Amino acid sequence: MKKLLFLFILFSFVIASAQNSFVIKDVKLFDGEKVIERTSVKVDNGTIVEVAINIHTSGKDQIIDGNGKTLIPALSNAHVHAWAPQSLSQAAKAGVLNVMDMHGVETYQSMMRQLKDSTNYARYFVAGYAATAPEGHGTQFGFPVPTLNKPEDAKKFITDRVEANVDYIKIIVEPWRNTLSSETVAALIKEAHLADRMAVVHVSRLADAINVLSHDADGIVHIWWDKEIKKDQLDKLLEKKTFFVIPTLLTTIKAFDAMNLDEAKLLTKEKLFAQVKKLFDNGVPILAGTDPPNVGINFGTDLYQELQLLNESGMSTIEVLKAGTSNVADAFGLEDRGYVIAGYRADLILLDGDVTNDIKQMNQIITVWKDGKVVKR
Ligand SMILES: [Zn+2]
Repeated sequence: MKKLLFLFILFSFVIASAQNSFVIKDVKLFDGEKVIERTSVKVDNGTIVEVAINIHTSGKDQIIDGNGKTLIPALSNAHVHAWAPQSLSQAAKAGVLNVMDMHGVETYQSMMRQLKDSTNYARYFVAGYAATAPEGHGTQFGFPVPTLNKPEDAKKFITDRVEANVDYIKIIVEPWRNTLSSETVAALIKEAHLADRMAVVHVSRLADAINVLSHDADGIVHIWWDKEIKKDQLDKLLEKKTFFVIPTLLTTIKAFDAMNLDEAKLLTKEKLFAQVKKLFDNGVPILAGTDPPNVGINFGTDLYQELQLLNESGMSTIEVLKAGTSNVADAFGLEDRGYVIAGYRADLILLDGDVTNDIKQMNQIITVWKDGKVVKR
């Protein structure tokens, strides 16, 4: 433990050299909302201070030529399970500067969160332990997990997570093992909200998605796998206050291949895409997440694959970029992130070519900045 702690302290001091003030000139910008064909962006001391075509520069400003390049906000991954600092550095290298953990060991998590201000690591947001039933999904990974049996257990479970300082609550409804009852899930969501935390839920079946959202879940962390949603079911879902969906298409498609499941019981890739498109067309925010390290998915560049799959499902390139940037910031309340706006953190990605027209250009990254400092790649 001591050695681990020492390593963490050491990591905390590895900070890339700072460029205090720089201007990216004449660049195409996706600002988290829209595309500006040509503008300039000034960064001072880690903060975006100006976005305008004509920016006054002084001799001390480093000038970066943005011609033929595109600037976007840093990416966020809305569904990960990070077990070590290396996962956070792999993410940062790929321009993924915020990651949302959906179930892990709270003592490790609190150490890894201390890397939030280190340039070469993604900021780490956590659910702590996910809520699950005894022997339920989430208990099979070799670390002890607190479990619940009944609605009366919900209050203590949430109090414990709040004491562990979690950012939001994750609940697992997964009937292939023991799973939480509908009443227990409802109680957990209610207690989470009383404790001022969002509640997001793992589901794999459409009926469970409809049920947990009817109990006011703030989001679901996978698209359902089993059935196509019908018009009346969708209408019912949309009656609810806002919620978001993290489809994790890459994980789902890879898991289907890996598990050799009975295909007759699962949606085809095209039908999975259609579920996402229906939600998107009806104004449900779609968030990019990949669930690494499940099915061998990495914490960095594999997020680009998820963006491509969202694109293939019928979302425009701009909407897909939102799914990987501003939609995550909005849904998880990440202040001053996810957009390129004056006053926001200088969490930026500069790319060659035009990723706003072709999402495959995501792998053309030139520079990633976290708080205005260059991430080592
Ligand atoms: Zn997961």
